[in-house]
Order: sequence, then C-alpha cells, then structure tokens
Amino acid sequence: MSLAEQLTRQNIKGLVPYASARRSMSGGRIWLNANESPFANDYQLDSSVLNRYPDFQPPELIKSYAQFAGVQTNQVIASRGADEAIELLIRTFCENDESIMICPPTYGMYAISAETSNINTKKVPLNADFSLNLDAMAQQKSGVKVVFICTPNNPTGSVISHEQIKAVLDMFEGQAIVAIDEAYIEFSPENSVASWVSQYPNLAVMRTLSKAFALAGIRCGFTLANQHIIEAMSKVIPPYPISWPVAQIACQALSADGIARMQSQLGCINEQKARIAQALTELPYIYEVLPSASNFIMFRTEHKKALFDTLIEQGILIRDYSSQVMLDNSLRISVGNKEETDALLSVMKAFN
Ligand code: PMP
Repeated sequence: MSLAEQLTRQNIKGLVPYASARRSMSGGRIWLNANESPFANDYQLDSSVLNRYPDFQPPELIKSYAQFAGVQTNQVIASRGADEAIELLIRTFCENDESIMICPPTYGMYAISAETSNINTKKVPLNADFSLNLDAMAQQKSGVKVVFICTPNNPTGSVISHEQIKAVLDMFEGQAIVAIDEAYIEFSPENSVASWVSQYPNLAVMRTLSKAFALAGIRCGFTLANQHIIEAMSKVIPPYPISWPVAQIACQALSADGIARMQSQLGCINEQKARIAQALTELPYIYEVLPSASNFIMFRTEHKKALFDTLIEQGILIRDYSSQVMLDNSLRISVGNKEETDALLSVMKAFN
C-alpha cells in the first residue's frame, strides 16, 4: 500500500476518481449524456487584467445575475459551478455527526459531496409519481442540516410542486437549509422559487450557467439566498473562485443580448425535445417516455443495453440510469441540435 493510500481519510478510501463516459468513445462525437447545450457562442476576452487576482465576487457579475434572477445583490454568491455550491452548503452547515437529506432518484453530487466531507446522507425516495414523500421526510428529519431537492429533477425531468416545497421549508424551519437545485430552471421558469429567498430564511436556490446559458466549459454557478446564508458561505469559499475570463464571459452571457440569445436557443432546444419525445413515443420497443420540464428526456425500454451499445457504435453517447432506484430500464437523452437529433432518431428508428 502506498503512503498516500495509508494516509487517505477513511471516508475517501472507497471513492473512485471521476472519469467521463466519453473516454471510451472512438469515432463519432455526438454527446447527449451530460445535459449540455449544443450551442457554442462567441465571447470577447480582455487579457490586460490577467496578471491580477480577480475580485472575490466580481461585482458586475453578481449584479447581472441578481438582476436576471430577480433578487438583491447581497442575496447572491458565485461559485465554480453549482457543484461547488453543493459542496459549500454541506461544508458550511453540516457538523460531522449531522446529515443531509436527498430524495432519489436525483442528482448524484449531493451524496458524493457529503461523503467526501464525511457527512451522512439520509435517502428518502420520491413517490412513484416523483413527488416528495413528505411523511417519510418528516419521520427522518432528525439531525438533518441541509435538504437537497432538485426541480426540474435530474434525471427524471419531473417537477416538485410549489406546495410541496413550501411544506418542506416549513417542516425544516429553524433546523435546516432547504437547497432547491434549479440547474434546469430556464427550461420551465414558472417552477422557480428564487423570488421566495427574502421570505424564507432557510431557503437556498442553486443555479448554473452550464445548461441553458451554454457555458458548461467555464464552470460558473450561483446560490441565491438571504444575506445571512450568503455571508456564511462566503466564509468557506476559497478567495478567488471566479477567474477573470469566467467573469468576463459570464457577464456577456448575462447582458440583455446574451439573455435574448439564450431564450432563442431555448426555443430551438424545445423544438428538438418535442421531436424526440414524439419519436420515442412511436417506437415499439419503448414502453414509457417521461414528461420533462428540462433539456433531457428519460424513457424506458426492455432493450436498454442493446440500444445503448448500438448508439455508442454509431458515435452517439446517451446515459444509462437503469441501475438506480426506481429507474429500471431507464435511459436518458440530452436534447441536442437538429443534426444531432436527426442522427439520434435515425439510429433509434432502425434499431429493433
Ligand atoms: N445540479 C444538477 C441537477 C445538475 O444536473 C448539474 C450538472 N450536471 C449540476 C447541479 C452542476 O452544475 P455545474 O456545471 O454548474 O457544476
């Protein structure tokens, strides 16, 4: 055993480093596995500032995002993607003998971040209709300091009702932060609870530029919450999380033009999503297509492995969720551009 292995913390030993599924792809490159945007936009960069450390929280970026989200500037903190926000919430609010609560099937990073911080994860599965099981959450609430709820939920595409979110905020009042992950909210903005942050002292809303804003490559996310939550997170985040290039690009994406471009790209994605949903419904080997409020579609087929492998052979990568709780036979497709959808559907229609 190497010295590093001997010295590694117990809770880290069993983990494996992240490895992208894309590493096994040879040939084609149609990546429909990570819910990215298919659009690559142009940005200007000013390199004259690069010899200086960036601002801790670039004021123009914070102002632009606060305006976009409809909150005050002291209710926003920017981080390296929403993934860093998840980690910050856990590191800021959970003591070692306390827990987070998650409602699977849901985004995987909540449990992974808890594990790397040696924090316990209480899992309260969603109901069969993908709503929250409020009774079970109440039964297990002891010792919970952060509750993660993803809406629209990755990977199901389902939405948690405002009524249920209110019930959870009340259930955990005075006890825990309720972190609502709105990574995909631009695809169904009516479901957002960002406007509630002044009203609920225990609400945090996570956002990202990685999805609708087509900027997964720059790693920029935000947490929206009352100023006391933001101040607490500011104590934990490293000094210069947002590099100059990230801040410059993000500000351009959040300008009026950038937002208008994002909206028009949303329209294109929604068009392709409708095409994919319709086509999947007509394929005889698919027995369920889940409605989605997001930029991806989950479906079920008895032939998931053969279909997944056939798509890979044709250079198209989607995501297999079939080993997860409640997701037997489930595959998820991220919606791409028209050409990618053409290629995807032609392989799927020929498959039998
Ligand atoms: N939350 C959810 C639900 C996600 O799907 C993702 C990205 N896959 C993230 C957070 C992380 O986003 P970011 O790229 O901003 O770290």
